[in-house]
Amino acid sequence: MTPDNPGMLTTKFWDEARNERLVRPVCGRCNTSFFSPQILCPKCQSGKWEFQKSTGKGSIYSYTIIHRPPDDDYPNPYIIIDVELEEGWRMYSRLIDCSPSEVRIGQTVKVAFQVFKGKMLPFFKVEED
Ligand SMILES: [Zn+2]
Repeated sequence: MTPDNPGMLTTKFWDEARNERLVRPVCGRCNTSFFSPQILCPKCQSGKWEFQKSTGKGSIYSYTIIHRPPDDDYPNPYIIIDVELEEGWRMYSRLIDCSPSEVRIGQTVKVAFQVFKGKMLPFFKVEED
């Protein structure tokens, strides 16, 4: 699932991201939010789901610090987070504007769209209290 070749399941996700809106699939039968988009709901196997807008607010479920970036466009080091959004679904993203020594599991974060390599991507920032 990359913005260069989104495919049928993710076209709307990237269209919404271009407009700085974060969306996730929500099952029409059991109301489960899930990610990434897939043909059938992972909970009840229904094919009836639709994208709905997320608040983009969540907390850090887990994280890892990358000390060997894939290329020079990435900061070194950078932080990959597993975010638990408040609607009960999780996605991987990058935590930006945060020092690796300050990242903590459970920190409150909010989506922060940013152009990276010419594409609008949903990164996250630590939410100030
Ligand atoms: Zn379902």
